[in-house]
Amino acid sequence: MKTSCLLPTGFRGSLARHVRGQSSLASPGSSSKSKMFRGVKRYCNDKVERGEGSVLWTTTGKRLLDFSSGIAVVSTGHCHPRIVEAVREQAGKVVHLQQSCVQSAVQWELVEKLQPLMPEGLDAFFFTNSGAEAVEGAMKLARQATGRDGIIAFYGGYHGRTQACLSVTTSQAGYKGNRAGPLPGSAYFVPFPYEHAGFSVEHTKAQLDMAIKMQTPASDTAAVIIEPILGEGGFVVPPQGFLTWLRKWCDNHDILMIVDEVQSGAGRTGKMWAVDHEAVTPDIMTAAKGIASGYPLAAVVARSTISDQQVPGCMGGTYGGNAVACAAAIATLEVFEQEQILQNTLQRGEQLLKGLRMMSQKPKFKGVIGDIRGRGLMIAVEFSNPGFGDGFAGIAKDVSSGCLERNMLLLNTGARETMRFAPPLVVTEAEVEESLSIFEESLTSALAVRTIVS
Ligand code: PMP
Repeated sequence: MKTSCLLPTGFRGSLARHVRGQSSLASPGSSSKSKMFRGVKRYCNDKVERGEGSVLWTTTGKRLLDFSSGIAVVSTGHCHPRIVEAVREQAGKVVHLQQSCVQSAVQWELVEKLQPLMPEGLDAFFFTNSGAEAVEGAMKLARQATGRDGIIAFYGGYHGRTQACLSVTTSQAGYKGNRAGPLPGSAYFVPFPYEHAGFSVEHTKAQLDMAIKMQTPASDTAAVIIEPILGEGGFVVPPQGFLTWLRKWCDNHDILMIVDEVQSGAGRTGKMWAVDHEAVTPDIMTAAKGIASGYPLAAVVARSTISDQQVPGCMGGTYGGNAVACAAAIATLEVFEQEQILQNTLQRGEQLLKGLRMMSQKPKFKGVIGDIRGRGLMIAVEFSNPGFGDGFAGIAKDVSSGCLERNMLLLNTGARETMRFAPPLVVTEAEVEESLSIFEESLTSALAVRTIVS
């Protein structure tokens, strides 16, 4: 059958070629053999075929120590036997129960297990597949419940790559690509308290006050959205007490508080949620990544007084709350309890921090490591004086590549020169030691080829 061309006449030449992937404008490297979107940036090009705990194995038999955990996802490690068992069992019972069609027994079971672990008062759940969907859902809920549009977000925040999420994301301009499309408006920004980068907590507090005077009046502001620890923005921990202060500030101005725990939640910081370090209860919270050990599951959790204001039918999604993903989440929580995962997270985190601090004292690293920070197994090393032509520009990427050459996955993060350590929460003492020596070797090599101006 002959297909007709729907493109306007003027576009039929060059655009049609683009559509068929034959563009003469294709950039170098995008050969016709490329089967994956160029928009996906990839760190490691080895093909991985299996994983166990904190280790991955490639098709060529190479062992990779995984200190990325698929960006803080495989909390119980790769293929934990209990998760594998739960998934197998659920796959033989029922897999897909569209949430708008029927009730899912396993989803209810998960709610019962999660409820006692939630910050007090968060008692209504909505399940999605990805963190971005959860953030979209959280912002939509806040806007519906308040009848206002404004959302105040923080510089350095990352909330996902979909349009509404991009409208509140500022960790890297690159996430928008060469064109992000028309993003939803009503997003306003204030600096995240990032002492090492020169943004004091006092400055942030003053900027929040200024935001409702200069950018968005409280009466038109639905919510503040915050990561309790910046993830993609550099693993930045706000000073203790800031989240408590922000909670009060939101209450004083009758603005909802959305906490995005997609990366910092599910045990990553040594407590179930990063807000637990200050016992703060947001109005709406998002969770994803670590909650299901790698199975696609995310959640929006809210006070039911807020979610009860929604009109039935405005939330949904074909795969949200998939039965197998829910079974994986239940098994994840069981493993957390049985294997004292939070305790391991704290102990291995301490070991890592101590090792990094000792390393930073070595004469060869004098003036090189500017900041070591983090909670649990969400730990960052920021290099000194980043990116100002003093020799440090690009060092985080070089260290990351150096680690990969030495068979360890270690990602950089943020717009400044920062490395992030986010191994599975089951990581062993020996693996942490191994990561420290690979990091040290990689940093030593990265320094050997640069001139540092001090
Ligand atoms: N929020 C935060 C804090 C995240 O770290 C991420 C993912 N890195 C997202 C939202 C988006 O999650 P997803 O990639 O599952 O859409």
